[in-house]
Amino acid sequence: MLVRFWGTRGSIAKPGLSTVRYGGNTSCVELRSSSGTLVVLDCGTGAQDLGQALVSSGTSPLHGHMLIGHTHWDHIQGFPFFEPLFKSGNVWHVYGPRGVGTSLRESLAGQMQSIYFPITLKDLGATLHYHDLVEGTLEVGDIRVTTQYLNHPALTLGYRLEADGVTVVYSTDHEPHASPRGGIEAPLAGQDERHARFLADADLVIHDAQYMASEFPAKRGWGHCTVEYAVQAAVSVGVRRLALFHHDPMRNDEAVDRLVAAARDLVAQARGATEVFAAAEGQVLELNRSSAVRPWVESREETARTDPALNLSVRSVLLAVADPLVGQTLGDAVTYDGLRLVRVQDGNAIPSMIRSERFSLILLQHGLKDFDALQFCRSLRGDPAAIDRDLPIVLVRTEESPAEQQAEAEAGVTDWLIWPFSEEYARTRIHAWVLREACRWKSAALPADEERRLLALHQSGVLDTEPEERFDRYTRIAAALFDVPIALVSLVDGDRQWFKSRRGLDASETDRDRAFCAHAILSNEVMQVPDALADDRFADNPLVTGEPRVRFYAGAPLSLGDGRPVGTLCVADHRARNLDEGQLQLLSDLSKLVERELQKNPSAHMS
Ligand SMILES: [Zn+2]
Ligand SMILES: [Zn+2]
Repeated sequence: MLVRFWGTRGSIAKPGLSTVRYGGNTSCVELRSSSGTLVVLDCGTGAQDLGQALVSSGTSPLHGHMLIGHTHWDHIQGFPFFEPLFKSGNVWHVYGPRGVGTSLRESLAGQMQSIYFPITLKDLGATLHYHDLVEGTLEVGDIRVTTQYLNHPALTLGYRLEADGVTVVYSTDHEPHASPRGGIEAPLAGQDERHARFLADADLVIHDAQYMASEFPAKRGWGHCTVEYAVQAAVSVGVRRLALFHHDPMRNDEAVDRLVAAARDLVAQARGATEVFAAAEGQVLELNRSSAVRPWVESREETARTDPALNLSVRSVLLAVADPLVGQTLGDAVTYDGLRLVRVQDGNAIPSMIRSERFSLILLQHGLKDFDALQFCRSLRGDPAAIDRDLPIVLVRTEESPAEQQAEAEAGVTDWLIWPFSEEYARTRIHAWVLREACRWKSAALPADEERRLLALHQSGVLDTEPEERFDRYTRIAAALFDVPIALVSLVDGDRQWFKSRRGLDASETDRDRAFCAHAILSNEVMQVPDALADDRFADNPLVTGEPRVRFYAGAPLSLGDGRPVGTLCVADHRARNLDEGQLQLLSDLSKLVERELQKNPSAHMS
């Protein structure tokens, strides 16, 4: 694997005599796997030279992947100057963290509005594909990429890239969660330990090292870390090489040299084996499969890409804090981007509230009257039946206390916010916690005899035919009988569900992977989902979180005569409901009538 630094500076470009050796351009790193997959990490001003080099290499058309950590200027300013984007025939995939309310594409387009720049995003000649990311894993060519949120005032992702038996982690613009210490005495804990695990056993870690611990107190909240923290994290998890990165614009070459010397001293003190250097513009590293490769333990199954229909505004945050000013700041932070806020003063009401509504996050504080926060955490985590067992719980503290926080972590606290903090700071952290559980819903398994089932459905000739009264009368009856706004005759095709008859729904089909009916055809019984928000299979299904806002569903399977369900007669509501035995029987009875129509030759009814 080949790594080349095109920009190593943080915050603002700093060309000049004082930065000749380490470089003045802002963040941009080129990475290539041995099979030729091209990845560009961040698109700061260094990307201009990289673009020129790629174009003059003569490769045409050019295919590449651009991974953006976040959209602060120093990471995207080279984007409008990256020449490969101007040439038609070139194809670029651009990845970055999914913002709240704003897509990656919109963020990039923002800096190219005509008052800032003469060419707009849509004038670029290359074909661009945008991918909004959350935490998870994705494949980029032959490179496996894992993402993890960093601690920064804008939503920021770190990237762990694995290919050719080599691991590189790109982790810049990250502030320690706990106050960074000068030395390496105490082990990292909580979220800082999680961050270190993200770097574990890497051959190369490119890490934010903008400040020294002595400078840090004045820079708290700016979202950057200290050399000491970067070294500590890297040494603690056996990183082989650590590239100090995102050099402060105030630091000249000699000052960067001193940083490197201090870092090497720390490694020696800790008896670590990590080789430390400061990333320099133009520097090229060739990384080969190391003999001591260990696979990364933390394998993540979930995909890092988000569903574009994912709607955060329906996500709820439960806020239970005693201090009015803390409550005000957090309340504003939650509602700013449209997350739903539920406040509770009486902590003892929390257990029943989380049974009645699905929350994405709980913000708690000690000191609520007659309420033991830790006892609550323990009982929630220990209850195997609780749907929200894994719900993130964040505790607001007025000071750090490693011993107490250790006990809190054992009780099930996910993370901490240390008061005082700004609303902006709280907002970014809240987004990261909420986005972390972005995709919980599951698409249905395929029936065992899927091929024959599809063959029968296609041979029936009913798919994509015009609406017919003989079906519509049943959806009309079902809607009235069960007093629901939505009733459908749905047929589950290879990758879609198509509606032969629909009441209360505009779309004539939806993707199969989000279809309730795809679950319902797995059995010959009526399937009822009394409350989709309380059902793990559907809680954040886009049909639940967005239009048509399905909360209740009941579907009776329809077959073509051989007993294999091909679709359903189903009803749905925006409210939670529960049909009793008698009603479920009626739905089943009605479905038998629809089934009779389905089994008739459709051409006989064309008129
Ligand atoms: Zn930056
Ligand atoms: Zn930044």
